[in-house]
Amino acid sequence: MFVDKAKILIKAGNGGDGAVAFHREKYVAAGGPDGGDGGRGGNIVFQVDDNISTLADFRYKRKYKAQNGENGRGSHCNGKKAPDLVIRVPRGTVIREVESGVVMADMSSDEPFIAAKGGKGGWGNCHFATSTRQTPRFAKSGAPGEEWEVTLELKLIADVGLLGFPNVGKSSLLSVVSEAKPIIGDYHFTTIIPVLGVVSMGPENSFVMADIPGLIEGAAEGIGLGHEFLRHVERCRMLVHIVDVAGSEGRDPIDDFEKINSELERFNPDLAKCPQIVAGNKIDLATDEQLKTFRDYITGKGYEYYEICAPIKHNTKELINAVAAKLAELPPVKRYEAEEIPQEILLQKKNNGFRVTVEDGVYIVEAEWLNKILMKTDPDDYESLQYFQNVLQSTGIIDELIKQGIHEGDTVSIYDLEFDYIP
Ligand code: GDP
Ligand code: MG
Repeated sequence: MFVDKAKILIKAGNGGDGAVAFHREKYVAAGGPDGGDGGRGGNIVFQVDDNISTLADFRYKRKYKAQNGENGRGSHCNGKKAPDLVIRVPRGTVIREVESGVVMADMSSDEPFIAAKGGKGGWGNCHFATSTRQTPRFAKSGAPGEEWEVTLELKLIADVGLLGFPNVGKSSLLSVVSEAKPIIGDYHFTTIIPVLGVVSMGPENSFVMADIPGLIEGAAEGIGLGHEFLRHVERCRMLVHIVDVAGSEGRDPIDDFEKINSELERFNPDLAKCPQIVAGNKIDLATDEQLKTFRDYITGKGYEYYEICAPIKHNTKELINAVAAKLAELPPVKRYEAEEIPQEILLQKKNNGFRVTVEDGVYIVEAEWLNKILMKTDPDDYESLQYFQNVLQSTGIIDELIKQGIHEGDTVSIYDLEFDYIP
């Protein structure tokens, strides 16, 4: 099945923790601190892969988690940084943050995109030694890796989209004007994945033409295109509208043409304004009468019109030349600009990192990462405690305590640690 939209969770690796360790050597008493730093967590990186044409893989695997950085060890051994997790997507995939809907990236170039940054490794205790504090019994925990829920949406990068009912000859045309090998079949819905073909007009001049999933279910009832299809042609610079001018499946060509256009108008008025060149295909099966009726109708409406027989390349060269000439006048393929993720969402993410509740006048702070820091904190060591206080301050926990109405002398409880609040 053709999948062009997916929602996944990406989580970069956490940084490794810094180590608390002291130099040990025979006959040397009380060696200095030598705890190494934690390694950086792996990033989540998106990369275009032209061998992939759908987002189908993301239906089966929805969570992508990069490895955590390695913890630091004694003897100044720093933890190894974790490798990036590279997620391969088809060209034209637009990545959005779910909650705000903002575009994080438009994967249309070969440039990799770091969507979630790995957490920095924590410093080992050797960084915290000073002339007055020679035995720092604390180190920093690694920072958490970024985590996002994102939607992936495939919006093909093609200059020209082929438009038309099933079986009118779209795949046939693409196969004779490009190297693409679309499936050509005498039944509906043969095109289930988009096929892009490069139409070469010479060494310096080529364009991309897309044969896309045709009418969706319901086409038999006369309604058809739907968002599924339109998402793909959305970026096209122009459309080639192919009509079975012989009405070989019993429909009326004029009716076909109008139906498709009104669907376009209904679902995406912008797209309906996109330039169209009309190609009447299957002229070998059409009577002169049929040809004339359709030709008069289309040219009467001011469209540029070509009569072709795709399989034997009759008039296809002329059609392609006209398309190239038209493209030369049109702006380039639309790119989606990356947007800033709104501040409130970033803040909310940060605050999700801890929870403050009040029970019986005791302010209880919970955070997994904080517990890790706490375990490395020496409550009997003034400087170690002070470092811990700084963490509470810089991560906004103190602000939250104040917001919840804490007063001097109230008890703060953080896992095993309890202390009186002093502003
Ligand atoms: P699509 O569904 O629009 O991609 O149509 P296809 O290219 O798969 O063609 C559908 C059927 O129509 C195939 O059996 C083709 O061989 C046939 N066909 C395509 N173009 C012509 C044509 O110009 N003349 C005739 N007689 N048959 C054609
Ligand atoms: Mg086809």
